[in-house]
Amino acid sequence: MRLVHEVSVISNIVSAILKELENHDAVSVVSVDLVIGDMTMLGDEQLIFAYEIVTRDTVLEGSKLNIEHEAIEVKCNSCEYKGPVRMLESGDYTSHKIPVMSCPECGGGIEMISGQSCCVRSIEIEESD
Ligand SMILES: [Zn+2]
Repeated sequence: MRLVHEVSVISNIVSAILKELENHDAVSVVSVDLVIGDMTMLGDEQLIFAYEIVTRDTVLEGSKLNIEHEAIEVKCNSCEYKGPVRMLESGDYTSHKIPVMSCPECGGGIEMISGQSCCVRSIEIEESD
């Protein structure tokens, strides 16, 4: 399993969450919701596996990682097009789809408006009372 990328992404996210949790009286963390853009090419299975490794021996250990996908959306610089990009099947065993970074309508240059996210939407914690 190719994991290097996912592990470094998850390490960054986990250390940011741990830092944030210092401001709360968190006893334990129930779940963490991530938003992952399709442009990042990060695999769910790999992210969850990496999360389990990275959160070991932290307050996040045993919490659930929920992954929400954000579709790639672009807008054209030449025409009025706004929407998804054309995807090419890579055809290899990874079944990754490769986005075509030009306007599907006119072939012009495009600007990405979504699909690059890699962020935390919410963290559900159990606080002591
Ligand atoms: Zn166009």
